[in-house]
Amino acid sequence: MKIAVAEINLGAIQHNLKVVKKHAPNSKVLAMLKANAYGHGTTQIAMALNEADAFGVARLSEAVALRAAGITKPIVLLEGFFEAGELHIIANLGLDTVLHTQAQLESFLAADLPRSIRVWLKVDTGMNRLGIRPEEVSSAMSSLKGHTNVLGTPILMSHFGCADEVHHPLNQQQFALFTELLEQHQGESSFANSAAILSLPDSHQDWVRPGIMLYGVSPIEATSAIDFGLMPAMTLKSSVIAVRDIKEGETVGYGATWTAKKDTRLAVIAIGYGDGYPRNARNGTPVVINNDTYYLAGRVSMDMISVEIGTQSNVKVGDEAILWGEVLPIEYIAEHAETVPYELLCGVTGRVEKQFL
Ligand code: PLP
Repeated sequence: MKIAVAEINLGAIQHNLKVVKKHAPNSKVLAMLKANAYGHGTTQIAMALNEADAFGVARLSEAVALRAAGITKPIVLLEGFFEAGELHIIANLGLDTVLHTQAQLESFLAADLPRSIRVWLKVDTGMNRLGIRPEEVSSAMSSLKGHTNVLGTPILMSHFGCADEVHHPLNQQQFALFTELLEQHQGESSFANSAAILSLPDSHQDWVRPGIMLYGVSPIEATSAIDFGLMPAMTLKSSVIAVRDIKEGETVGYGATWTAKKDTRLAVIAIGYGDGYPRNARNGTPVVINNDTYYLAGRVSMDMISVEIGTQSNVKVGDEAILWGEVLPIEYIAEHAETVPYELLCGVTGRVEKQFL
């Protein structure tokens, strides 16, 4: 009996990389592996993505783990470094670093390094999260270009704040500003995340940076993953561990938030927020058992959920339940839990066994 298992379809990941390349045929691919490869398992995904040109992680610990697992491709630290001492590890492991503040830039230029490091200079074009200001780019580039600590020519990068809303005015504003900065820049550049890869082709530049689409999830609300030809990589499964009849008017679960409208039957499934199934999932969230869709009844507990199967159902203990994945898009579950697929994928806990297919 499968209890809380995440099946990871590595073939789907490879297929989704092909979709990236189809949309951005002239760009290199910096595949996002941060946050445990969006919950899918960093090392296995890195190995499956051997056709990518580089990998992106947020933290040094993630890059160290990839190198320890024998991954030799370029790895970019998207948040850069936090203490100058980390630069020696970055140099020795042959990592690339983003520089996104003046303090990082100064510390980088002042460091005495065993070898040079490839630099991605991040400019804030309007998202107001990370990045130096546009007016600082020219002097930052002059101090980096030709400096012994810098390997090759720095790559200029920026990040969209609203690419998932195709017509949001910020997209064009950010892109126009980036284009202006590129006029004075002789090196490579990078801007597009998944949403921009799929919907803003002008922004592709030398490097695209896909994350969520590699995992088979649509980055754009109005369009489904299937419409983009993406295949979901993770299917979250568990099993029915109890079936019980309840009477009209009886309530179910903590807080008694669901009441039976008639005599009915429930299946209890071994999955809960202790596994990363969202506690916010509301009554009516779909669950698939034996190819039929049933609906959540009552609050999600730490280890279990209940779904109404009705008195005529032949669902029994041991039957497999699918919480999201191929037959049940994670986008629907995110909607029912008032969150985004990113959070659901990253939130799958260590208790869930990963099975790589
Ligand atoms: N580039 C940067 C700098 C990011 O922070 C992220 C993810 O948040 C991505 C690219 C990938 O974004 P997505 O998963 O939407 O493709």
